[in-house]
Amino acid sequence: MDASMFRAWIHEAARLMVDNTDRLTRLDSAVGDADHGINMRRGLQAAVAMLDETGPSTPGAVLATVGRALINKTGGASGPLYGTGFRQAARTLGEDPEVSAARLGAALAAALTGIQRIGAALEGDKTMIDALSPAVTAYQAVIDSGGDLTDATRAASDAAVRGLKQTVGMQARKGRASYLGARTIGHEDPGAASTVLILSALATVTAASGRRSERPGTGAAS
Ligand code: ADP
Ligand code: MG
Repeated sequence: MDASMFRAWIHEAARLMVDNTDRLTRLDSAVGDADHGINMRRGLQAAVAMLDETGPSTPGAVLATVGRALINKTGGASGPLYGTGFRQAARTLGEDPEVSAARLGAALAAALTGIQRIGAALEGDKTMIDALSPAVTAYQAVIDSGGDLTDATRAASDAAVRGLKQTVGMQARKGRASYLGARTIGHEDPGAASTVLILSALATVTAASGRRSERPGTGAAS
């Protein structure tokens, strides 16, 4: 995966945030302050603008730029959390121009660790961690059994969806939603829902690139 694919990922994530702004905001109005859709749309659009302006040339530099944009522009608790995740992932990737599926798995794991270090949420607390943590595990399982980037990102995205569904039965124990106590039960967590969008964007771009390289005459060798 090269820098242009990482940029395509963030463009697709931004597109999904625009499409899902109202849905995320509706989820956040049930358990929080109804700003998660707006926050994520603003953050991802700022990330796209910064990428278009600065044109970072390595995967690590792309993710570092995204992290900076999210921390500065997203707002809410989710901005620094996601921003830290992207920055930790960037650090793991270093300055290599091309990233293997295994390295991307390490970067996702580093994002999870970084988010947990500053947010202190565990699985079951009804946060983005409930989508991200099973996604990281599922990604790694595919890599360990010899699967490729397309399989691993699809498995991660599917696991995140399952994690999101599980948040419905949970009571929030972290962030603003925790103030509402048992009233948060029965609703999906907004941050877990935005994590699903980010990971599904990743699965979409890797699947599209896999299809392109299978077409004769358009593969890496041509
Ligand atoms: P705010 O709560 O400040 O309004 P957002 O609405 O943008 O911020 O984001 C809320 C989401 O942030 C929650 O749905 C949850 O997934 C996530 N979140 C909040 N606190 C934490 C935490 N400590 N660790 C991980 N995720 C968290
Ligand atoms: Mg909110």
